[in-house]
Amino acid sequence: MADRMTKEQRHRCMSHIRSRDTRPEMAVRKSLFAAGFRYRLNVRTLPGTPDIVLRKYHTIIFVNGCFWHGHEGCRHNVIPQTNRSFWAEKIERNRRRDAAVQARLEALGWKVIIIWECELDPVRRGDSPSRRELTLASLPERILQNARDSQEERESRKRAVEEYRLEKKMSAARKRYRSLDMSDRYSISPRIAAESSAGPQDDDWTSELD
Ligand SMILES: [Zn+2]
Repeated sequence: MADRMTKEQRHRCMSHIRSRDTRPEMAVRKSLFAAGFRYRLNVRTLPGTPDIVLRKYHTIIFVNGCFWHGHEGCRHNVIPQTNRSFWAEKIERNRRRDAAVQARLEALGWKVIIIWECELDPVRRGDSPSRRELTLASLPERILQNARDSQEERESRKRAVEEYRLEKKMSAARKRYRSLDMSDRYSISPRIAAESSAGPQDDDWTSELD
């Protein structure tokens, strides 16, 4: 069967497919699943449509390509010599968008873990573990720590709200007590207290001016 797609159409189609289910992301998912974590993928209802969402642990994981997301100081993030300003601008835009997405997610109470593609490099030298093995091995503890931190933050927020409510109640009680105390000490009748707090009458002043 003849291939009817133009070169550009095919490129667009391929790059679209590649943005989901990329191999580095699959490695992360497999390792999480094997460690007993359960997650949702590409959650559209959250800012930035996160790759991996672990709701129980209040954690979101993005697996970012070093070039497209502009991994700083990374050898995979080399701006091409041709159309340099075009690429630099495009990648800077991606970086700004990523930062905005992360801020929005954190404002919603999520912890965000960014895993760079270079951290999932499967190449190993001799007996030493690969970067991928090291990254994946550290992931469960990072996720559990997020869950603990987020639990602590929720509890401290709750305590702050309770303290605020208690303080409001006490200040109202103090006010009531002070007003009772004053009227008692000077035996001011409620009628006189009401009149004196009404202020001087208009005709008091006019008579003095005459
Ligand atoms: Zn990198």
